[in-house]
This record gives sequence, structure tokens and C-alpha cells, in this order.
Amino acid sequence: MKNKFYFIYLILVLSTTSCNGQATTKNDKQTTKNKKDMQLNPLTEAEKRVILFKGTDRPFTGEFTDKFDRGTYICRQCDAPLYRSDDKFHSNCGWPSFDDEIPGAVKKIRDADGQRIEIICAKCDGHLGHVFYGEGFTDKNTRHCVNSTSMKFIQKKVE
Ligand SMILES: [Zn+2]
Repeated sequence: MKNKFYFIYLILVLSTTSCNGQATTKNDKQTTKNKKDMQLNPLTEAEKRVILFKGTDRPFTGEFTDKFDRGTYICRQCDAPLYRSDDKFHSNCGWPSFDDEIPGAVKKIRDADGQRIEIICAKCDGHLGHVFYGEGFTDKNTRHCVNSTSMKFIQKKVE
């Protein structure tokens, strides 16, 4: 008899746990919804063309292509940190190139044509560029090819 009560108690505990699980899912949905309401920086027409409509800077024209100052590249639209200057390298491809992102900052989506992988800001979904693998530029064998227009640069303060 005692065992039976214990069994019922166990079921109650387990069902409470699963309720909590559902609550977490609900919160996740809430976060997604908030994405539309988040505070975003106003964009110029040229910035909208790249960030919202997935345009591309003309090669060798972006303000950060040849910049190698120490600091952090953040999203033009939402200010989320995206890349560190330590991960930037010379690729001579005409766009800023990084072989790694700040963990969790960038989402990767396969293009409609199935050929390339688009990279977007994980926080605001703004278009950044494309990521390529296996080109052998660096040990990480990865090249995030990012439009300067999609980013802002925060110079590292001298310590
Ligand atoms: Zn963003």
C-alpha cells in the first residue's frame, strides 16, 4: 500500500517537471516574438539594401576590408558583438574575412540555390554575408565573408 502512494507521488513529481519543461518552451517563443519588438538602429537606404534585402558590398570598397586594428565588430542594426579582430585575416577576396565568429553570434542558413551558406546576425537576423569552408586560408579552414555595411567597429581601448 505504501509503495502505491509513493508511486502516485512520483507521478506527481514527474508531471510537475514536465510542466516546467513546457514553461521553458513558452519562454523561448516569447524571446522569438520579442525579436520583432527589439530596439534596432535606423538604417540608411544603402544599409537596408545589404542588411534587410541581402545585398552585397562591391568588392574592395568596404570600410573594413583592410582594417586590422584591434577591437570588436558589432552588428550595424542591433549592436550585437559578431567578430573579433583576432579572427580577421587577409584573404584578398575584397571583403572582410574572419575564420571564426563570437560563439552564438552568427546563424548559418543554406541559400535557396543550395550552393552557399548565408550568415545572419543571431540576434536580429540581419544579413551579414556568406561562410565558406575548405579553402585552406587558415588552420580553421573557414572564411566568413562579411559585408562591411553589416557591421560597426569598436576599437579596443589601450590598457
Ligand atoms: Zn544584429
